[in-house]
Amino acid sequence: MTASPASVPLARPRRLSILGATGSIGQSTEAVILGAQGVFETVAVAGGRDAAALARVARSLGAKFAAIAEPSAYGALKGELAGTGIKVGAGPEALKEAACMEADLVIGAIAGAAGVVPTYAAVEAGRDVALANKECLVCAGEPFMRKAREKGVRILPMDSEHNAIFQALGGENPKRIEKMWLTASGGPFRSWSAERIAAATPEQALAHPNWAMGPKVTVDSASLMNKGLELIEALHIFGVEAHKLDVLVHPQSIVHGLVSFADGAVTAGMAVPDMKVPIAHCLGWPDRVPTAARRLDLAEIGSLTFEKPDFERFPALRVAMDALAAGGAMPTILNAANEVMVAAFLDRKITFNDIARNVEAVCEEFEKEGAARTPPDVESALAVDHIVRERSRARLAGLGR
Ligand code: NDP
Ligand code: MG
Repeated sequence: MTASPASVPLARPRRLSILGATGSIGQSTEAVILGAQGVFETVAVAGGRDAAALARVARSLGAKFAAIAEPSAYGALKGELAGTGIKVGAGPEALKEAACMEADLVIGAIAGAAGVVPTYAAVEAGRDVALANKECLVCAGEPFMRKAREKGVRILPMDSEHNAIFQALGGENPKRIEKMWLTASGGPFRSWSAERIAAATPEQALAHPNWAMGPKVTVDSASLMNKGLELIEALHIFGVEAHKLDVLVHPQSIVHGLVSFADGAVTAGMAVPDMKVPIAHCLGWPDRVPTAARRLDLAEIGSLTFEKPDFERFPALRVAMDALAAGGAMPTILNAANEVMVAAFLDRKITFNDIARNVEAVCEEFEKEGAARTPPDVESALAVDHIVRERSRARLAGLGR
């Protein structure tokens, strides 16, 4: 974590800018804000292309500014918000403007590497960031965190596992960490045979047993790629070495992360699987804000179980762990290839197993070419991201799909 002056408890409304306000995290954030009347003030909301959904959340939260990434959606957004006094903008500059508004905390909840530019703009402007958008750190973790340190910006982890670990760590000296485990529910295919997984449809991959999330992260959870991306995210957020990071499959999704220390003690972060809990923690930190999340009843749950991940049936996790160990540009390459392949799977152009197979093939191609240098800045990371996407799409075209 980056050092910054200790914040004081909420003496005045905390000003928020929400990037990705229309998504699953955006909606849970809205619920937390509405449930804590008077605690927060929403200065800006931003979304991708759904003008009606963005206008709705802008009105609901009384935002001052609404920014939509898709330039052609400007007219629709303007129409939806006519007469409300809410300022409207469209395109990449408008997104940056939303990210840089005078706010105490920017919520980074855009899906995918599309979140890199606006979230980085918030860091450059010196805004503290509550980060859900893990792809931001997988694509450009090094330069992103370096800028955060330079600016004295705090990156609060909103992803449930990292948030649990942040809470489990307390103020511990990171040097005394022996190991860090992120848990994975195992997704909808945890108990499926390899043959069944090979024939899995998008509908089946999107039917997550424990979490309701956006489509990309849900498919990543089914393949366990999500956990691999989260290991890379943890490396950057906590500054812990790759070899100390591990994964535990925990189907009940109650224990989200664990840390063991030099003396053998283990601390863990627990909560019901509801994103409102880590979201509220980030929004209120270092104070606590109440949420309507169901309370954890361990006696009712009865038993918590843990198992090792199966790399045979879930090769995406192995591919991601290889990229984590390789470092350099490999995580950037992994992330871009995975975004293209997940989109192709959702479009029914490739099978579920083709996701990991193609991501691995793309990573190997770049490895052979020696493209392993860590991108020194965000622009270079995005340039790698761009080339990998083109190569991944060409690969799909070459496969006749
Ligand atoms: P969703 O798909 O539900 O929402 C994505 C959001 O990003 C929407 O607001 C969408 O706008 C916006 N968006 C998409 N493309 C762009 C773009 N090019 N420019 C600007 N905004 C864009 O995703 P989630 O809320 O599920 O996930 C968001 C992030 O949080 C991801 O990185 C995910 O991995 C992470 N995360 C999610 C969890 C969850 O429970 N959902 C848990 C932990 C992490 P529009 O609606 O207009 O398309
Ligand atoms: Mg997570």
